[in-house]
Formats: sequence, C-alpha cells, structure tokens
Amino acid sequence: MEEKLLWGQMTRLELEKVSEEVDTVLLPVGSLEQHGPHLPLDTDSFDAMYILTKAVEKLDPPRPPILPTISYGLSEHHMAFSGTVTLRPETLSSIIFDIGHSVKKHGFNKLFIYNAHGGNTNVLKEAALRLKYDLDIKVFLDSGESMEPAKKELIKSDNDVHAGEYETSTSLANRMELVERGKIKKPKLTFPDSSFEFDSKPAFFYTWSTDELTDTGVIGDPTKAAESKGKELWERGIKLLVERIKMVEGL
Ligand SMILES: [Zn+2]
Repeated sequence: MEEKLLWGQMTRLELEKVSEEVDTVLLPVGSLEQHGPHLPLDTDSFDAMYILTKAVEKLDPPRPPILPTISYGLSEHHMAFSGTVTLRPETLSSIIFDIGHSVKKHGFNKLFIYNAHGGNTNVLKEAALRLKYDLDIKVFLDSGESMEPAKKELIKSDNDVHAGEYETSTSLANRMELVERGKIKKPKLTFPDSSFEFDSKPAFFYTWSTDELTDTGVIGDPTKAAESKGKELWERGIKLLVERIKMVEGL
C-alpha cells in the first residue's frame, strides 16, 4: 500500500512509526473569505493543502505528515463582502499554539506551516515565537515565499494581491471548474495615497479594508490570468517548497 501522507488518515500506530522516523509536521493554513465575484471562498485553504500535498508527493519516504488544514483565518478586512468568516487574532494564535503543544507531545519537534493567506502572517509569527520560547518547538513559516520568485517574474499586474492575475491563474491551474470565468473583470482600485499602494517601495501600512480599496473585492487584475501561467507558478513554487521541507527536516 502507498505510504499515507495525511496525519488524519493514519492510524495511531502508523503515526507512531512516522514520529520515530521524521521530526517535522506540516500544517496548511488558509482562510474562508471573499475572493471577488469569480473565485471560491476557500481558495486559500484549498491552495495551502494543494501545494503541501504536491510537495510531499515528491519527497522520498519517510515523509513528514500533513495535518488537517486550518480552514479559517484572519479576514476581518474582507467582512464587508459576503461569504467571509473570520477568526479573532487570539483565536488563531491559540489554535497554532495548541497544535504545536500536541505534536510535540507525540515526538515532533519541528512545525512547518504553509500559510496561503497574507492576513495571517503576523499572528503566525507571534505564535511561532511563543512555541519556540515556551515549548522549545522550532517553527518554520512559508507565507507564499516559495511562490515568490516565479510570481515576481510571471505576474505583471500592479498591486496584484487578492483574487487578481496571480490567484486567478493558480486557481485556473488547480480548480478550473470552480472559476467563474464570465465574472472576471478588472476592478477599480482606490488608494488614499500612492505611498500606500502594495507595490510602492516603501509601502506604508495602514488599517485598510478591502471595500475601501476595490469595487469588486479583487485587488489586482484577473483579466490577465491564464491557466498556463498558473501551471508554471505551481510547478516552480512546489519545487522550491520541496527543497525547503528537505532542508528543515535535515536541520
Ligand atoms: Zn486568497
């Protein structure tokens, strides 16, 4: 039988065996939030599990197990658009801490988080530090950094951070049947000042809500999306993620 990749599908005894052979556990983190008129609400959660599964399939056994996805994230800034369900920062932080506590108990000392939603990043870093200092767990966080080099090269739209050229392309490549292609349109973006644009260097932070920036919930240009681009983005991102997981397990 094929070796199982998912923590949830293993028996207790199978998991015990894995814990004797590997030191790393993989955790996909996503969100449930509006992705414009054309992409599914669970895009980030689906993508986090997708990239981790594809990466782990390329590893030689013994392979780090993949925990079930945390399907909710910090999406308060999307709440003006329907379908969004958000956690409070302290809830997400507590979930991460509790998962770390549990996996450590069962013999895993490293937690590798793949986070597909930018809004989660700061809280995940804070939770990572707590796990390190309180429980001596090493936490590694990839908030899309593995996808970044290919994204920089292939995605040309300005401020393309949400349901735009990048995310529509990756969705066309992994879940074409759920992309409402007829509803794809370029949004009208409004920033209070050019220094707040995501692409400006430096980009100043402020507490924006999506509905203040865009008329459709999209930030970026989904009309430039293509399945071929998405395929290349995934392929290159998965390759980098494989190297990172190997590196972490080898530490
Ligand atoms: Zn997304």
